[in-house]
Amino acid sequence: MRTSIVILLAILIAVQTTPAPAQGKKLPHIVILATGGTIAGSADSKTSVGYTSGAVTVDALIAAVPTLKDIARITGEQVSSIGSQDMCDSVWLKLAARANAVLAADTVDGVVITHGTDTMEETAYFLQLVVKSKKPVVLTGSMRPSTALSADGPLNIYNAVAIASDPAAAGRGVLVAANDDIHSARDITKMNTTDVQTFDSPEYGLVGTTLYGKQTFFRTAYRKHTVNSEFSVTDVKSLPRVDVLYANSDMSADLIDAAVKLGAKGIVIAGVGDGNMTTPALDALSRAVKAGVVCVRSSRLPSGRTWRNSEVNDDKMGFVAAGELNPSKSRILLKLALMKTKDAAQVQKYFEEY
Ligand code: ASP
Repeated sequence: MRTSIVILLAILIAVQTTPAPAQGKKLPHIVILATGGTIAGSADSKTSVGYTSGAVTVDALIAAVPTLKDIARITGEQVSSIGSQDMCDSVWLKLAARANAVLAADTVDGVVITHGTDTMEETAYFLQLVVKSKKPVVLTGSMRPSTALSADGPLNIYNAVAIASDPAAAGRGVLVAANDDIHSARDITKMNTTDVQTFDSPEYGLVGTTLYGKQTFFRTAYRKHTVNSEFSVTDVKSLPRVDVLYANSDMSADLIDAAVKLGAKGIVIAGVGDGNMTTPALDALSRAVKAGVVCVRSSRLPSGRTWRNSEVNDDKMGFVAAGELNPSKSRILLKLALMKTKDAAQVQKYFEEY
């Protein structure tokens, strides 16, 4: 008799101390679009350097973070299963179409995209220009595979879902959540090959921070984005070819001439210093402009802007200066710009607006 009273009391206490499910309050509905990456990576041991990216499914990623169900109703969708080194125009177009379709539904409050870290900044910036919604879109990834000791993926996913559920994140453009930091898609760049604290926004700093899903926002994206962007990839099947060429001492004209011959519609130079390159390379770039290719000078340096008409007379040569956009993001803006114009002055205007 006494035993059953003790058991009854124990059950009552357990029922009272279990956190109450959010009764009456409807949790936000977040769709996770998974693309692969180290966050979905799997290794043979907990301490192995080698691993396979994108081996784990979206359902397994969600199942690894049981606390997600306390903050959101989650739907998972597998868009691709690739290391982000294999990210390409066709996956971008598919991802943009899915993000736009999902965000258009009244029943969806935000989107989280799991992605490899290598090209996360490119996908984030692409989506920033072509997603037509004010609802939060948050990319996240991890530096350690899901099977590693102290894997960083689960908390990054939890934080990304919390940010996507947060009405204060709406209208700030596409965001990246990593290691408790919140970055703007335009400003973020990967800085370290393997460090968990790999991401930085060197020019403009963080948009905010998060700690176990509690956000502090400092600022919003300051350039045009999402609903105010004039770029769209609705019904677009392919994007124009733009090549990035890395400048160094003794750079020859050869690769620039080859890019033109191979059909590039645009060329971005990852220049030395303030977007500089050797005289033979400058001459080749000038030939490219005359052949109808739109040429952008960016910089291989991790911070600072590439100024128009600094050591190179862009007005005379018909070049575009990238401002703060690094070469890989310049490539994305140029691809989208080329779908509208081949006029270097108009492309320069886009670089100042986006
Ligand atoms: N190579 C991986 C990728 O980008 C690296 C990572 O996700 O951290 O998919």
